[in-house]
Amino acid sequence: MTIDINVISEKDRNSVLHPFTQLKDFATGKIGDPTIVETGKGIRIRDAHGNELIDGFAGLYCVNVGYGRTEVSEAIARQAHRLAYYHSYAAHTTDELAILSDRLVKMAPGKMSKVFYGLSGSDANETNAKLVWYYNNLRGKPTKKTIISRERGYHGCSVISGSMTGMSFYHDHMDLPLPQIVHTGVPHHYWGANPGETEAEFSARRAAELDQLIETLGPDNVGAFIAEPVLGTGGITPPPEGYWAAIQAVLNKHDVLLIADEVITGFGRTGSMFGSQRYGMEPDLVTIAKGLTSAYFPLSASIVGEKIYRVMEEGADRVGAFSHGYTYSGHPIGAAAANAVLDIVETEDLPGNAHQVGAYFQAQLKDRFAQFPIVGEVRGVGLMGAIEFVGDREGKKRFDPSLKVGPRVSKAARDRGLIARAMPHGDILGFAPPLVTTKAEIDDIISIAESAVRSVMDELVGEVQTI
Ligand SMILES: *Cc1c(COP(=O)(O)O)cnc(C)c1O
Repeated sequence: MTIDINVISEKDRNSVLHPFTQLKDFATGKIGDPTIVETGKGIRIRDAHGNELIDGFAGLYCVNVGYGRTEVSEAIARQAHRLAYYHSYAAHTTDELAILSDRLVKMAPGKMSKVFYGLSGSDANETNAKLVWYYNNLRGKPTKKTIISRERGYHGCSVISGSMTGMSFYHDHMDLPLPQIVHTGVPHHYWGANPGETEAEFSARRAAELDQLIETLGPDNVGAFIAEPVLGTGGITPPPEGYWAAIQAVLNKHDVLLIADEVITGFGRTGSMFGSQRYGMEPDLVTIAKGLTSAYFPLSASIVGEKIYRVMEEGADRVGAFSHGYTYSGHPIGAAAANAVLDIVETEDLPGNAHQVGAYFQAQLKDRFAQFPIVGEVRGVGLMGAIEFVGDREGKKRFDPSLKVGPRVSKAARDRGLIARAMPHGDILGFAPPLVTTKAEIDDIISIAESAVRSVMDELVGEVQTI
């Protein structure tokens, strides 16, 4: 298909409200024309000008099987021809949905029982909050409702999930967070540890803070703790040593449910099928989205643990039908896409690839970037990683935000053909390439990133005293 780039750009500028875009700069043309993405193959996308870019972020950490997988598009087409839609209310189902749900219950971490479907990670976390409240109402603990999440956690941007998200710019000017959601400290050792504090000591301190917070709120008022096994949008930060064991003990002590938000970490990204398995977490609810269909179709789910489901079933005679559901819950095309994607995840052992190629990727990141005078920390696990830039390595001080170091490095990478994302809360360059990425492709990603970092470092020498 040939398109008229100018016509499309103009229609877009006039009519699309883009997420996370400075509206005035876009409207006035200051940040240029929209990037019209036309095709994708493997780990690369191509824009309407014919520029090819390596997608070092798999879209938004979601296209895990890579672009252009015909196994998935054909499964979608087959289902669309056969039956494009039916709902799953009142015990209706499709073969694809039943098969997918059986697979998910069996592969999920913890003792899982049932799967409830939505269309986005945000709505799945919205469902999880309602399940926590429903569960505690049914078992006669109507005050046990507060949900604790973490500063710099990311859980979506709907009303409840956006409240769970621990970043102020998701709240400001939008009347969030809701009072039912309370935040606790982020487990980022580099920035959070006291001088000389080991990772294990820092983890124990974070767990003690959570314990204290629950005591202060009253254990009878706290329903759940929600967290990503590895912080994603908050900075791609793996947990410090001992963190999850210490947190899990506090939750067990106070009968507080654990919601593992595996929207990024699910289906292999950390090198295990789920992040919970890698870190020994025992979730009661698991949120999945992104990797579930590799974003070939919008589909998310809350996987509901046995402990919660038992109470729901036992309460059914008293409260009647489970009154929660979307028109598109369990959409058959989404289920068909997910089954085709999970076939690839399993037959190509993408968790294994993320483990092996991921180990190489982490080693390359450390080798090539950790010694740069503007790099404070290099971190990651599996095929998710980040480089954090600082103005003062010794004194651990960030650059002046007005220098926009993170966005400049990201732009320099993009100008050289690599998408790597500037993350919020500091100058952070994030990577989350598709899980099919090869070692040779990692070499390409690393060498472009290195050239980008060097170019911005050279520019900064003229701008900043300390380098
Ligand atoms: C992306 C993301 C979400 C939200 O998913 P959407 O589909 O964008 O609503 C929730 N949790 C985590 C950890 C995510 O990365």
